Amino acid sequence: MLPQYNSIFTAEAFAILQACLFAKKHFGQFVICTDSLSTLSSLRNWGHTDPTIEEIRKLSTTNKITLLWTPSHQGIVGNELADQAAQDMRLKPSPLFSPFNSKDISNLIRHHLKDKQIGEWELYNHRYFSINNTFTKISLPAYLGKRVCSTFIRLRIGHTRTTHEHILTGTPRPSCLCGKRLEIDHLLNSCRLLESTRAHVFKQHKPSDSLNVVSQENITNLYTFVIKSNLNI
Ligand SMILES: [Zn+2]
Repeated sequence: MLPQYNSIFTAEAFAILQACLFAKKHFGQFVICTDSLSTLSSLRNWGHTDPTIEEIRKLSTTNKITLLWTPSHQGIVGNELADQAAQDMRLKPSPLFSPFNSKDISNLIRHHLKDKQIGEWELYNHRYFSINNTFTKISLPAYLGKRVCSTFIRLRIGHTRTTHEHILTGTPRPSCLCGKRLEIDHLLNSCRLLESTRAHVFKQHKPSDSLNVVSQENITNLYTFVIKSNLNI
């Protein structure tokens, strides 16, 4: 089993390389069947200098090895058995050393930086971590418009003109008109001055829960609440 930062391409090429090494060791004529079109087309492309691909090229030309494409998920016995073996390995990991290509290395770095970033945000205790603790990139429906979407994003992050403009203007931090600390969660969930608007828009739902799930209903409800409450987001 390869580490998770290896690409599917590397995993498939690595499996073919292992089959080539097996063939070399046992002599004779071999046909290696694979459903990996990306590996086969890379082997045909001599400009492709991935170390695993180069090794397969060398082994297949210096030994009696033929590579044959076979379609996947078509009930071909050998292919189904290989697929099942791959599934079984996912449950019983057995680490192998493998060569890396540049894409794998960049994947490894990206995974490492993401883990590091998540760890730092966890320590920082930022409110956004409770909304999106895996740092998954969200995609917003473009038809809702930039203003509606940016309002949703600012509310999720918790940085809005209403709550943070004093930092830009260098003025004292304002309180809410009700006298409480001015924060997004207060405005959304508990400010008594916005009770009727809150009940009208969100009914019995807790408004801040709408920040957790990206849906058209949640985004438009939050925007409606902001507009009806005259909040400067
Ligand atoms: Zn208030």
